[in-house]
Amino acid sequence: MPKIRKAYKFRLKTNPETEANLSRFSGSARFLWNKSLSMNLERLEKCQGILWYNELAFWIKLWKQSDEYGFLRECPSQVLQQKLMDLERAFRDCFDRKQPLKRLPVFKKKGMDDSIRFPQGFTVDNRRIFLPRIGWVGFYKSREIEGTVKNITITRKAGKWYASLQVEQEVEITKHPSVSEIGIDAGIKCFAAFSDGTMVEGVNSFRKHEDALAREQRKLSRKQRGSENWKRQKRRISRLHHTISIVRSDFLHKLSTEISKNHAAVYVEGLNIRGMSASARGTTEAPGSNIKAKAGLNKSILDQGWYEFRRQLSYKLDWQGGSLLEVDFRYTSQQCSKCGYTSKENRRSQAEFVCLACGYEHHADVNAARNILTVGQTGMACRANRNSGRQQEPAKNREGVLPLAS
Ligand SMILES: [Zn+2]
Repeated sequence: MPKIRKAYKFRLKTNPETEANLSRFSGSARFLWNKSLSMNLERLEKCQGILWYNELAFWIKLWKQSDEYGFLRECPSQVLQQKLMDLERAFRDCFDRKQPLKRLPVFKKKGMDDSIRFPQGFTVDNRRIFLPRIGWVGFYKSREIEGTVKNITITRKAGKWYASLQVEQEVEITKHPSVSEIGIDAGIKCFAAFSDGTMVEGVNSFRKHEDALAREQRKLSRKQRGSENWKRQKRRISRLHHTISIVRSDFLHKLSTEISKNHAAVYVEGLNIRGMSASARGTTEAPGSNIKAKAGLNKSILDQGWYEFRRQLSYKLDWQGGSLLEVDFRYTSQQCSKCGYTSKENRRSQAEFVCLACGYEHHADVNAARNILTVGQTGMACRANRNSGRQQEPAKNREGVLPLAS
């Protein structure tokens, strides 16, 4: 039977001692990431090849023996090794031409990106976890764990510690219960538009939280950098970011679960096409600088959500025996989904689509979603790969279909 991987996330019941240890280990791991990253960035600047895992693992040994970096000895070696593997992965992804959205890895900031992973040496008991050099830690068990735990990642978000247990489960891949197919377009005015005419708004509570975020950030700018007040305000902002991410995650999971259950094939626009057409389509225009900035923020939140949404759809469809398919077709926003007439003029405004040839009128995003579905069904889609973002070559290269970047 094929195996799939899933993750369960639980909040840990930490005490001051565990927290101190977790902070220290995260600090060492972050130090190693930043140190290795800066060495590699320097090498890149000098046009030298970068150091991969094996070379960096050798450096760890030297650093551990030194006085300056001797503190690395306290941290479990496997945690440090995992961090280096993450860095190697990040570099490989960003050099991968098939993943145009990946950028160079960035430096991790204290208290913001704290995370460490244990690939072995842990034990999961009923309501507690044993971690090497940390000991037993209880957790809030919100659901039963099914499958074999392969690794545990500990993260800190807004002052609280979480454990993410990655498990492997054996599943029977069945045929998807439905035969329905649907096209989805990432909307400009809404989060997503569907070929059946449905339009999904973003989460309403974003707006509320964003207003609060903007307010708190203005307050932060008035405080003296590094002062106690400033730090307190920083924490308040990070809690707010955390809340927004929870609301967003909840929204995306509900939507992706529903779609993956009801449709066997889901067509979306290829990522490189989307990236290219983003500027041509324009962004939400709003008068007034403050509103514009907020619209930009909203846009970026929706955009981030869109990639995460695709990722969730892809693996959830896999579980159900369905598939997420990418369509590389450039004119989804200009073509009439009824008669096929393609012209920029069809697009009367961002929201409105009126065909100059046949008079077909519809919301522009829904029209695009219909085109995505039609193009997909005529066999010009390729399977979106959730692991690497790589795409397979399309079967045929017909007119109007862009060749994939080679
Ligand atoms: Zn038409």
